[in-house]
This record gives sequence, C-alpha cells and structure tokens, in this order.
Amino acid sequence: MSKNYEENCIFCKIAQGQISSIKVYEDEDILAFLDIDPSSKGHTLVITKEHFANFLMVPRNLLDKAFEVAQKIGQALITTLHAEGINIITNVNEIAGQSVFHFHIHVIPRYSQDGLKLNFSPKQIEKFNLPALANQIKTGL
Ligand code: 5GP
Ligand code: ZN
Repeated sequence: MSKNYEENCIFCKIAQGQISSIKVYEDEDILAFLDIDPSSKGHTLVITKEHFANFLMVPRNLLDKAFEVAQKIGQALITTLHAEGINIITNVNEIAGQSVFHFHIHVIPRYSQDGLKLNFSPKQIEKFNLPALANQIKTGL
C-alpha cells in the first residue's frame, strides 16, 4: 500500500487496483489510464499512486516523474493516434474545474474536428498593473 492513501478517494482505489481502469502506463510511483468520460479520443490521466490533493501538494521528484510520463504519452498520442496537438492540464481546486481531489494530469489529444473548446474567456475587463502584479507574485516565491 502507498504511503499516502485516502479511504474515500476514487483515484487511490484505481491506483490500488480496487477499482478497474484501462491502463496505458504503470510503474511503482505513477499510473496512467484512460479517462472514463473522455474529452477526445485517447484522453489520458496521469496520477501519482500516492494521494496528493492537487498539483501544488506533490513532492518535486514525483511531479517530475508524472510530467515525464505525461510527455511520453503526449508523444505516443501523436505517433499512434495521429493527434495533431495536445493539451496538458492539471486543475487545482473546484473553482478551476477539479472534481477528483487526487493529483492528476490530463493529457488531451487534439484533432482538427474534435470540437473541443478550452475557453479561457471572458478576459478580465479590469486593467491590471502588470509590473506591480509581477512584483507581488515574486514576494511569494
Ligand atoms: P478533474 O475535473 O478533477 O480535473 O478531472 C477528473 C477526471 O476524472 C474527469 O475527466 C473524469 O471523467 C475522470 N474520472 C472520474 N472518475 C473516473 C473513474 O472512475 N475512472 C476514470 N477512468 N476516470 C474518471
Ligand atoms: Zn487519492
């Protein structure tokens, strides 16, 4: 059993094999499987087997491993399914669209006719003071 495990987490159960999934990659730390409700053909989720609530909580070594696998899968989606592009997305918190609170990376292959719209609008009406904003963010690094 992994070090971090949450009793009521569906992705922990998938990582432990208690709930089945269609796997595309597995090693001791990382699992990748097809999204049950895909946004496009080949939509894959990459997770750490250990439970971390979101991207911000994942230790650096595991984050590196997860993104390495996401990159390989992205390359494979292009060579095997002939995807023309890839969206890599990881949602943090409900406001950003996170519905499963176990870290995962969406690897979403894109095709010219997929009809998928990732909509970052509306743009903010407010005019930000970008240099001041950058300085404010830097204080947290
Ligand atoms: P989120 O909204 O948290 O960024 O993404 C969660 C993703 O997990 C969704 O795309 C959803 O379709 C997928 N998902 C939720 N439950 C299951 C499941 O039991 N099995 C699989 N394979 N995917 C799931
Ligand atoms: Zn979990």
